[in-house]
Amino acid sequence: MVRVGRIRCKTLMGRSGIEDVDYAINPYLGCQHGCIYCYARFMGRRNHPGEEWGTYVDVKVNALQCLARELPRKKRGVVLLSSVTDPYQPLEREWRLTRGCLQLLLDYDFPTNIQTKSVLVLRDLDLLQRFSDIEVGFTITTIDDEIRGIFEPHASPVERRLEALRVLSDSGIPTYAFLGPMLPYLSEEGLEGLLRELAQIGVDRVLVDRLNIKAGNWPPIRRALEENFPHLLPSFASALRQGSKYYEGLRLKVSSLARELGLPVYFCY
Ligand code: SF4
Repeated sequence: MVRVGRIRCKTLMGRSGIEDVDYAINPYLGCQHGCIYCYARFMGRRNHPGEEWGTYVDVKVNALQCLARELPRKKRGVVLLSSVTDPYQPLEREWRLTRGCLQLLLDYDFPTNIQTKSVLVLRDLDLLQRFSDIEVGFTITTIDDEIRGIFEPHASPVERRLEALRVLSDSGIPTYAFLGPMLPYLSEEGLEGLLRELAQIGVDRVLVDRLNIKAGNWPPIRRALEENFPHLLPSFASALRQGSKYYEGLRLKVSSLARELGLPVYFCY
């Protein structure tokens, strides 16, 4: 059960350090998806010390008023929805803050990049189709839904994400798949099939990232491994060391498959 709070923000559009992104918009603090490996858990340190990531979400109740005030004053640039929350987590169905942000971004014609793990994004297809510059990406760390259930317990099943990518792509929306963080050995299950499906859907690009240990994400990852894949723990941990051969091998494997399939692939590590 997620505890839902209400907060007021001073600003909504934050400058972003992410490559090719100028601003990030996060209508919620916290994330119901509660991914085990999530780096965004540091966001709760001030308002929710000691509370488990995924068990609370604060709704920024004045988000749309802030954005309406900020947009006319900002230089046009690429906006990412979202960087430290999922803009289409279940609460969005009721609060519609992401939809409200999209309406405003559309009014000011800001290029927009949506990244999510939820098929709720399809609700806003009518708006997405009206943007002059839009891109929608789904994060996929594994095609195996049992592994997904362990590491991303409350996000949409992988098959449904792929179906949603297909609907978006067939509707003329530029799409991408963010394969990250790639979990050593586990994300390789069915990887070739996943890349084949992405090529068949016609995503415009595939981004691949490694798993980094930061923001306190190692204890929950280790717990999940001990409970479900204890035999994998030593090799998983050693693959995570900076400069380990594991991720270089993965890069070669993905590059070669992507080349064969004609999929544009970019590595974030
Ligand atoms: S969906 Fe994204 S922000 Fe939400 S818990 Fe998962 S990784 Fe974190």
